[in-house]
Amino acid sequence: MVFCRACGQEYYCVELLPDGSVIPHELGEGSQEGNVAYLYPGKIKVDNESIPDNWLTDVKGEIKASFKEYVDLQHALYCPDCNKLYIEGDKAHPQCICAGKVSVTIIPYPFKFCPSEGCGVFYDKRTRKEFNKLFSFGTVGRSTATDVLVSNMLNTLPKEEQKVIAFSDNRQDTALQAAHMNNIQKRIHFRRGMYYALKKQLEPVDLMDMGELIFDAYKKNGSMPAYAKTKTFSMGRSGKEDASFRSYLQLNAILELGSPRQKTQPNLEDVGLLQVSYRLMDEIAENHKFWESYPDLMKLDNEGREDFLTGFLDIMRYNTAITYEYLIQPERFRENVASKLNEVVFFHNELLSNKPTGYSDIPVDLKPILFVLGGDPGSYSVVPSREWSAKGMQEVWESTPLQETEPLHRSKLS
Ligand SMILES: [Zn+2]
Ligand SMILES: [Zn+2]
Repeated sequence: MVFCRACGQEYYCVELLPDGSVIPHELGEGSQEGNVAYLYPGKIKVDNESIPDNWLTDVKGEIKASFKEYVDLQHALYCPDCNKLYIEGDKAHPQCICAGKVSVTIIPYPFKFCPSEGCGVFYDKRTRKEFNKLFSFGTVGRSTATDVLVSNMLNTLPKEEQKVIAFSDNRQDTALQAAHMNNIQKRIHFRRGMYYALKKQLEPVDLMDMGELIFDAYKKNGSMPAYAKTKTFSMGRSGKEDASFRSYLQLNAILELGSPRQKTQPNLEDVGLLQVSYRLMDEIAENHKFWESYPDLMKLDNEGREDFLTGFLDIMRYNTAITYEYLIQPERFRENVASKLNEVVFFHNELLSNKPTGYSDIPVDLKPILFVLGGDPGSYSVVPSREWSAKGMQEVWESTPLQETEPLHRSKLS
């Protein structure tokens, strides 16, 4: 069984033999004996709306011949008892009389179009590997498999029995899985904190207030992790530790918005509990002065331009190209935040030591040239080019006061 990488719809990856029988097929391997195909469980018709434009002829808007088989899908009945597939309208293979046949739809190989409702993702020749369009069970990492098993077990157990003991025959693996489990628990705890902090708000919240809000949500719900390094502090905690933990939560709120999208680890935004928007986008989209020299953008109406810009900023955001001190200077994070906290509360596994990502409209060779999307109208062009070097970013950071970059890089949450 394989799954659409875009929507998660399941398909059976099979080979159809000349006599109508069906054998399982390993994703991405050449066919052995028959024709490779994907079986969609159930009967589905392609919704005309979701057919990609370049699959249609220019004049009449009809489906181009080469794409017809991906749109006019064949339906069939599969008999598990005989392991045979009976294609609708196929008179050559008379059907067996078994009860319990299942209805399926045949999706031709290579996978070009996902007919699943609300998906409609399509691929051209450039995506050659089937593996980049679909994924299969066996390719899931062990940690992910453990997550699925453990969370499902916990969910099905009665409340007072929600405990799991796991055995491993390998010490290293035990250490790895234990660390992973702890990490995911902390991450979920954090996401809950974020969710509850936002749920209480009537208005969208500024991203830069999230650290504080999550901290308060923990406090209110009595679920504050033990972040203080010194337990024996008799005079109460120093305000510094509180501040460090708030900064830690703040950084994670930012990372949360920029995390790579992974099907197996959906974040709040992926599951539709969080919506991210950018301040002042409507005003910027409306201001023609910025767009005059971009005829393609001038063709759009204000709303279209706002949509375009939002999509553009989303791409940057998903790559964590976000102006934030600790993303640009991770060593400051270690110095100001991490070193002041009890490390049992940490769960950020994004490597902060990685090169910070930035976008520029001018190809740069180590020299930072343009960084800001706000401020000077001359610098509004937004064409992604390449990653900045850490050194380059640092220089930009130091020469760019935070205020200037704030409006576009700060997101509103709702
Ligand atoms: Zn899909
Ligand atoms: Zn049968």
